[in-house]
Amino acid sequence: MPTAMPDPEQRGANSAHPGHRAPVYTAFRLRVGNTGHTMMAMIADLPLLVFTDIDGTLIDHDTYRWDAAAPALRKLRDIGAGVVLASSKTAAEIVELRDALDLTRWPAIVENGGGVLAAGAQTTDDTARYAELRAILAKTPPALRTHYRGFGDMDVSQIAAVTGLSHEAAALAAHRDYSEPGLWSGTDTQRDHFLDFLASHSISAREGGRFLTLSFGGTKADRMIEITSQYQAKHTVALGDAPNDIEMLEAADFGIVVANPHSATLPPLSGEDSGKIIRTTARGPDGWNIAMLDLIARLELKEGRTLHG
Ligand SMILES: [Mg+2]
Repeated sequence: MPTAMPDPEQRGANSAHPGHRAPVYTAFRLRVGNTGHTMMAMIADLPLLVFTDIDGTLIDHDTYRWDAAAPALRKLRDIGAGVVLASSKTAAEIVELRDALDLTRWPAIVENGGGVLAAGAQTTDDTARYAELRAILAKTPPALRTHYRGFGDMDVSQIAAVTGLSHEAAALAAHRDYSEPGLWSGTDTQRDHFLDFLASHSISAREGGRFLTLSFGGTKADRMIEITSQYQAKHTVALGDAPNDIEMLEAADFGIVVANPHSATLPPLSGEDSGKIIRTTARGPDGWNIAMLDLIARLELKEGRTLHG
């Protein structure tokens, strides 16, 4: 596979001619195989940019496999579409999976929209937000703080115990940049006071599963909108299975709710009546594959439309 890298010469040429109007395409230098040969290619506006949740959506909830979605992933690559992973996972958790899926040339939305792992990057290089969040927790009145046990208050073994992850996976989940999941052990009233205090420091909370997750805000949809404008995508589609995917499913041009028999069915979503949002009957990557191939056919997206050497 050719690897695409932003071409610094092209960027330099534009900045040397400030009056030059930026083109609507992006110039990339493609390195072809291991031959060292490069060619310039203009990648026109993307025909389709896919934003997908990982667990229970692209990857099977039980087996952790995605091979059922491989035909649609291949087809997306052939038509020049992009695929952006969008997960509650940390950058450290996503980076290896993104590589395995051959999606490293696309950015990934991490920590539920807390931030973005840039295309090609191994880390976000962004540690200030999480440190700031922990500093605010440290100055929270002890009577409120004592009921909250965040990942930052646990060692890796304890994170493994509360999440059910392996020790190795828990170490990656502990490597946080934007948000703090934790367990709440106080009353609802105490929690309200705790969250009021945090809100006065711009921290918001989201409950999902067992965890109360704190962050400075941002959803998968917020990051999706930024990435879409950056890549000039013609169409967007979002796929997800859980409440933390709803904003993204509703904000995309097309939404696909992927069946996950392990979680509660999502409520009716805005856009479902008009057919903008559909639900799969097949679960996980099987549903992902069928719905994506169907959408590509409906949009009449064909191979070889976007690369001009
Ligand atoms: Mg999910």
